[in-house]
Amino acid sequence: MADHTDIMVSVRQGSYYLPDVKQYMTDEEYAVWYVNHSGGRIEVKKARKEHTCNICELPILKGTEYYAIFYGGGLGGLKFPDKVHKIRDCIKEYADKRKAQQEGHNV
Ligand SMILES: [Zn+2]
Repeated sequence: MADHTDIMVSVRQGSYYLPDVKQYMTDEEYAVWYVNHSGGRIEVKKARKEHTCNICELPILKGTEYYAIFYGGGLGGLKFPDKVHKIRDCIKEYADKRKAQQEGHNV
């Protein structure tokens, strides 16, 4: 489990500076990084059939890339990942919601 101290982030000119990895990231890269360091795992997949984005609820079209996000070790978490468009707005919102949950707030 990631420690919350390692996800301290300062915002500078629209990108995130991560002190522990010593680099700037776009907010999409940061969202991916956040999920991967908070107990989740992201894979980029190509849709073999149409799916629905967990965030915006619009279709993820067949043949397009999307983020499959696995949380938890349970069968459900491994077999039924969250599916999110591979675009900034969707993955950023996903990470923001996940972050709020893990910090104990309701969204
Ligand atoms: Zn979406």
